[in-house]
Amino acid sequence: MRIAIIAHDGKKADMVSFLLNYKEILDQIELVATKTTGGLVEKAGLEVTKMLSGPVGGDAQIAAMAAEKKLDLIVFFRDPLDKHPHEPDVQMLMRICDVHNIPLATNLAAAELMFESIINRYRLSHEAEERT
Ligand code: PGA
Repeated sequence: MRIAIIAHDGKKADMVSFLLNYKEILDQIELVATKTTGGLVEKAGLEVTKMLSGPVGGDAQIAAMAAEKKLDLIVFFRDPLDKHPHEPDVQMLMRICDVHNIPLATNLAAAELMFESIINRYRLSHEAEERT
């Protein structure tokens, strides 16, 4: 499973604390991030592959991965109260997710629901493995 994470500046701290709440399942998940978000997540002790920073093409790189079906989920904590020079890239990323049916969580509540669903899926597949 590969998950991309992106957070606008006003949401980066929220992203780090969100991920730390799910530390135990992140061992089994490959994280990909835009550069600054990824740097903070690394500092918090998680492993992550860093792309370019969002405003200089990182969102576009992650959109390209989504279009190639290389991502299972994108968590993008957008800051709706701030302006972003790369808004066209943000729109493009969201469109690509819809085109390719890639789950996209744009706020904490949605991200929590999606991670809970991933945890349940792991739990069910482990239980099935144990039965065989
Ligand atoms: P950043 O990019 O993680 O490099 O700050 C995020 C964004 O798209 O604004």
